[in-house]
Amino acid sequence: MIERRGILDAMDCLFCKIVAGKIPSKKLYEDELTYAFPDINPQAPTHVLIVPKKHIASLVKTDAGDKDLLGHLLDVAREQAKEQKLGNGYRVVINTGANGGQTVDHLHLHLLGGRAMHWPPG
Ligand code: 5GP
Ligand code: ZN
Repeated sequence: MIERRGILDAMDCLFCKIVAGKIPSKKLYEDELTYAFPDINPQAPTHVLIVPKKHIASLVKTDAGDKDLLGHLLDVAREQAKEQKLGNGYRVVINTGANGGQTVDHLHLHLLGGRAMHWPPG
């Protein structure tokens, strides 16, 4: 039942549809585990989204068994930052849950760069 719920969530998920090519996006990077594409509403000159291909609703839904995947997502973020020539620095963000400002319930990293970031974030 829990597994079935997961499949139903994935069928209805925006980023699963993007990964599957059902909603168009510009591919910036892809491997067997991950997919990266530009955010539709960029918050910086460079704004890349990096998602696992498998449906995971948020960081909350991961555990120690996802260590390799989570590490890999960070590897992809670092390599995308090089690819996007963000040598002056960048920010990697995982909005999580309602208070974290998450609006799409499929785990994703934001890679933001091309301008100086502010701290604390809003
Ligand atoms: P969150 O707010 O969940 O951390 O981030 C979701 C991000 O997905 C937002 O920055 C939003 O602009 C982006 N987004 C929403 N819909 C689409 C879409 O259809 N295509 C792309 N490329 N990005 C999207
Ligand atoms: Zn999904």
